[in-house]
Amino acid sequence: MSYTVLVVEDEPTLLETLEYNLAHQGYNVRTATDGLKALETAREARPDIIILDIMLPGLDGLEVCRVLRHETNVPILLLTARADEVDKVVGLEVGADDYLTKPFSMRELLARVRAHLRRVRLMREELTATERAAPREHLVCGDLVIDLARREVRKSGQALRLSPKEFELLAFLAQHRGHVLSREQILDQVWGWSYAGGTRTVDVHVRSLREKIERDPANPERLVTVRGAGYRFEG
Ligand code: CA
Repeated sequence: MSYTVLVVEDEPTLLETLEYNLAHQGYNVRTATDGLKALETAREARPDIIILDIMLPGLDGLEVCRVLRHETNVPILLLTARADEVDKVVGLEVGADDYLTKPFSMRELLARVRAHLRRVRLMREELTATERAAPREHLVCGDLVIDLARREVRKSGQALRLSPKEFELLAFLAQHRGHVLSREQILDQVWGWSYAGGTRTVDVHVRSLREKIERDPANPERLVTVRGAGYRFEG
């Protein structure tokens, strides 16, 4: 079965290049050139991944991402022209899974798409297996309860709104609680790719996750930084 990739970009040359390269990989490619069309196409075509430019006419990419996040778990890879936008992109309200800063290499973009789709496939297989196996798997870490099958997190009984990547990061950390995990390890296991410089993605997601699970995000007690080594989840 071939995967469907939705590419949202208003710049004709870049759109054409992306479309050509993705189709060459055997993906079924759909395109949109503005935000409203992007929402429409995402709902109708149900893509397996969305590559979404931030700067779009009308509704911008951040707004599109925010809306889609409420509707679907589809991986969203945002394209940003400004490095200082990155925190916002991954952060609380927008909830993108990943981002690339323009200009990016096509090889890197394709590698990321491949990695996200591999995870989509694994997750679907896991979900089917979980449904078959019936018993639900919970991780309890103090006042946090992580429901792995339903992908829900409760803190003192209150449901937390996590983006799909925040959830996966938290689940991975909680499954390895007490162990020091390097950024590279986290990147490899949670995102499925590793590139020099990609570890910043991990830091940005750790920051946004702390906003949701720590009493004081500036002085984390749960998800602690281990200087020079990485992160450790204390549970
Ligand atoms: Ca653009």
